[in-house]
Amino acid sequence: MEFENKTVIVTGSARGIGREIALKFGAEGARVVVFDIDIDGQAEIADAVCGEIRAAGGEAEYFLGDVSKPADTDALIKFAKDKFGSVDVIVNNAGITRDNLIMRMSEADWDAVLTVNLKGAFNVIKSAARTLMKQRAGVIVNMASVSGVMGNAGQANYSASKAGLIGLTKSVAKELASRNIRCNAIAPGFIETPMTAKLPEDIQKAYKDSIPLKRFGQVEDIANLAVFLAGDKAKYITGQVINVDGGLVM
Ligand code: NAP
Repeated sequence: MEFENKTVIVTGSARGIGREIALKFGAEGARVVVFDIDIDGQAEIADAVCGEIRAAGGEAEYFLGDVSKPADTDALIKFAKDKFGSVDVIVNNAGITRDNLIMRMSEADWDAVLTVNLKGAFNVIKSAARTLMKQRAGVIVNMASVSGVMGNAGQANYSASKAGLIGLTKSVAKELASRNIRCNAIAPGFIETPMTAKLPEDIQKAYKDSIPLKRFGQVEDIANLAVFLAGDKAKYITGQVINVDGGLVM
């Protein structure tokens, strides 16, 4: 129970990778704040994730909002402190795709992806910074992507947002290290989630052929690393980008 009495915020945790991360922290005894976008039906989904966490021995509360709105991320940090008394770990996982070839990519799709994926993480970190600095302790894990490391045709907006997130990770790691705050990024390859299920089958096959391990990863492959990076076994690791991708980037 490594995370007993630790408060962990996971953004975009109603489903997919974020949900699995929230469940794993819950199983380690954490007090988890499940944060996700405020759309119809999301409260029930987030509440169900909280129910699973409680059933596994953790504590959990959900809070709905939009990472791209600073008022919402300020409210998220206040909610976590009011409910649980501290903010110890933040996993910036919320992310979207709006894929298209660059000639066809609309300004709106460029802005939406940069705003959620990059500005969203900045907003959460900024909202939490004072609290983490006062505590002189904290861990931030940002969910990047191999697309941010090596680029990907049809994902100019997404790749740029994730490359930006890697720069944000390193800058935050340098800026906050003196206050005992660590910040790392995970760069998943292709993971089986609703996000990759949307890809046409022939594209999925082509991607699998290019992965040395010849398969997509599972959400638990990412969640295991998020929990490791947030814990004491990783206490000397900061400013790093760790690929979890079946060998795609090497
Ligand atoms: P997902 O299944 O689409 O889950 C993302 C979650 O974030 C959803 O619940 C989504 O809500 C929520 N979200 C979207 N915009 C938000 C906002 N503005 N504020 C708060 N929450 C918001 O995605 P995933 O596949 O689990 O991916 C999770 C992260 O891993 C993302 O950052 C993604 O870029 C990254 N990643 C994924 C893969 C992969 O293969 N799946 C690979 C590399 C990196 P909705 O229900 O409204 O969509």
